[in-house]
Parts: sequence; C-alpha cells; structure tokens
Amino acid sequence: CGIVGYVGGQCALDVVLAGLRRLEYRGYDSAGVAVLADGGLASAKKAGKLANLEKELADRPLPSGSTGIGHTRWATHGGPTDANAHPHLDNAGRVAVVHNGIIENFAELRAELAERGHDLGSETDTEVVSHLLAESFSSCGDLAESMRQVCRRLEGAFTLVAVHADDPDVVVGARRNSPLVVGVGDGENFLASDVSAFIAHTREAIELGQDQVVELRRDGVLVTGFDGAPAEGNTRAYHVDWDA
Ligand code: GLU
Repeated sequence: CGIVGYVGGQCALDVVLAGLRRLEYRGYDSAGVAVLADGGLASAKKAGKLANLEKELADRPLPSGSTGIGHTRWATHGGPTDANAHPHLDNAGRVAVVHNGIIENFAELRAELAERGHDLGSETDTEVVSHLLAESFSSCGDLAESMRQVCRRLEGAFTLVAVHADDPDVVVGARRNSPLVVGVGDGENFLASDVSAFIAHTREAIELGQDQVVELRRDGVLVTGFDGAPAEGNTRAYHVDWDA
C-alpha cells in the first residue's frame, strides 16, 4: 500500500520509517523495512501498526546503513501475518523487495520457481519477485537490468522497489498501473508511492512513467523502459509546491 526507498548520507532506517508514517493515512495491516549495511541485508517486518514494527526494531535493532526500503501492506494475497508482510527476500537473504498492487500470474511463476528448487515461505503474490530478481542478478550482476528482465515476465499492477546486498549503493524501482515517484535530493535520493513520504527532505520530484524502471544512487537517477531504452520526456524533475 505504501512504499519508501532511500539512498544517501542519512540513516536510511530513520528516513524510511518517517516516510512510512507519512503514508499511514492510506491504511495498512502490516509494515516492514530492509537496510543494506556491513555487506549484508537486514530486515524486520510485523503484522499490525508501525508501532509493532518499531517495538520489534527496539528489541532487535538493525545495523545502521545508508540504503533502505520500507512498506506498509494492505493484503490482497495471503492474510495479514508477519510472514506475509513485506519486504520479501530470496532464499539467500541477499535481495529484498516491497510491492504495491497485484501480480496476476504469480501462481505460474511460483510453480516454476518451486521446480527450480526455490523455497517460497509466504502466501503472497509478491514473493516470486525476490526469487526471480535473485536469479537474474546472479546471471547479469546488475539490479536494474534484473528488474527489467523480471518486469517483462509480470502481469498485473505493480510498484516494486528492491535492494540487493551485492549492489549496496543502489535502490531500484519499477511501475506498471501503480504510482512511483522519485524525490531528487542533494547527495541523496528517494523513492515513494506518494510525494508526501519525502517532502520533508526534497520538493523536486520525477513521476515515473508506465513500464519504467529507475536506478537510484546517491548522486544519480537513471530511468529506462522495461525494454532498457532510455526514458524520454518525463525524466525532468518538477517542483512540488503544495504543503503536505
Ligand atoms: N499483493 C501484495 C500482497 O498482498 C501487495 C499488497 C499491497 O499493495 O500492499 O502482499
């Protein structure tokens, strides 16, 4: 339901949690975060309100890192449990994905992944994406390219945001029939389902177009189509001048 991603000089977890709080008004049943730190990926997720996740983080703190993603979930496939909350990881625990929307052909992709030996532990439509991204990344070594390859296989409506521990300075996002906005900062960049998540940090925004993938680094934002062609037209930032 709500998505936030961050890469920059601040503590990613703080930025992501504050962003999720700004998206609470949309309603949700669970929440989770993932950060890249010390060469690995650490995550936490909980059914219920953000306060439950914050309690979990107080009991079991994550290492601090400068790349992170977060999600508030409104369940469509699988009940509102800790296991079904996002982010979803691959079996090696190197990739984390958050998703808004519905992946219509998930059952077929799930069966295919199970046949190749993947162990899918949730009931969501989302989890196939983390496993597919891990497979693509292990052959091409590029998270944005992996996202493009995976998105070409997906049907339905989705905003996806992902990180990979082997590419620790990058957050990748993608969208089809579901919104995703880039917040352009100075030495830091943001991704969110709604500008209100990052408006406390920047008012320069780029609305991602249909079937586009964005690769976000501290000092750069690169937008391409699912086919890899550079995006045209809509990649200039606009200024958000309303009060959020
Ligand atoms: N379909 C996904 C799920 O049920 C995402 C739901 C959402 O948009 O929050 O986990």
